[in-house]
Amino acid sequence: MKICLNCKQPLFGRRDKKFCNDFCRNNYNNQLNRDRVEVVRNTNNRLRKNYRILEKIIEAKKRSVSKTELHFLDFDFNFITEVVETKTDSIRYVYDLGYQVLDTDTYLILEK
Ligand SMILES: [Zn+2]
Repeated sequence: MKICLNCKQPLFGRRDKKFCNDFCRNNYNNQLNRDRVEVVRNTNNRLRKNYRILEKIIEAKKRSVSKTELHFLDFDFNFITEVVETKTDSIRYVYDLGYQVLDTDTYLILEK
């Protein structure tokens, strides 16, 4: 027995039916859209937060920062917008601000 994706009530009629009616279809699709918007919003917020952290470091005229300090500032290494490979290294950017590994615990902060 198939059930409506929206209201979970049993479905009757055509085998390929997924919803009871247009209301259920619209409701389901709107919810799906809201979830997607939420995912994008959360990712954007996370990127913005990372950006502000890098901005603060640059404003403080510091050009290098320890990994510990970045963690302490709640920098999330999973959220970047671009990786630029140089001959010897890779620079990870959050928009136009980036960081590059100097040694195991130190990052160089760069502006594009
Ligand atoms: Zn339904």
